[in-house]
Amino acid sequence: MGVKENLDHIKSTFSSASCLLIAVSKTKPVSAIQEAYEAGIRDFGENKVQEMAEKAPQLPQDIRWHMIGHLQRNKVKFIASFVHLIHGVDSLRLLEQINKEGKKVGRVISCLLQIHIAKEESKFGLDEQELEEILFGNDVRQMEHIRIVGLMGMATNTADTSVVQNEFSYLRALLEKYSRENLPPQIALKELSMGMSGDYKIAQEEGSTMVRIGSAIFGERNTK
Ligand SMILES: *Cc1c(COP(=O)(O)O)cnc(C)c1O
Repeated sequence: MGVKENLDHIKSTFSSASCLLIAVSKTKPVSAIQEAYEAGIRDFGENKVQEMAEKAPQLPQDIRWHMIGHLQRNKVKFIASFVHLIHGVDSLRLLEQINKEGKKVGRVISCLLQIHIAKEESKFGLDEQELEEILFGNDVRQMEHIRIVGLMGMATNTADTSVVQNEFSYLRALLEKYSRENLPPQIALKELSMGMSGDYKIAQEEGSTMVRIGSAIFGERNTK
């Protein structure tokens, strides 16, 4: 099936009409992104800075670029001028760097804090205590060029749907808990970035506001 057919199929299975579909185009050519764009998609996700920075100028200007991968501090400068949302922020030092680069280009850059919800060691993210240190600490209050708009998480890669469901449910509970707190104006927790090709339906049932879908749209990737 082609990109357009895949997109139609995915949208027909969405249980939440307000959930944003981010097409994860990593490793895929500009032509594939163009196809999805023509089918109406405006939000695209990449996990490598260089790849995103190379693709963006070749594509329509109204695309919203989402950095979904692990972001190194020394690479923030390559995307600061155009990135729409950085999903994988998992340290105060990275936030500081984003704030610094945002200031240089005169932008306020939206970020999600990545929470470690999976059983797997390899997945990045904060635990609840580290999250609290960022949310309630003094450092974020000084940052005028970032906005923390929600949380992001990746569930365990398992066929056991109850495990996945519990992990997403935990992430939503965290968002609900901390969105009730009295936090500085830089922090407005409302977005929940959770769900990929294999688990987006569960994620939507658990309250996801944005799903990051790659292979179900563009086909399997050859490289990682
Ligand atoms: C690659 C990737 C996705 C998309 O994965 P698919 O299984 O192809 O849908 C989503 N989120 C992150 C962080 C990714 O790196």
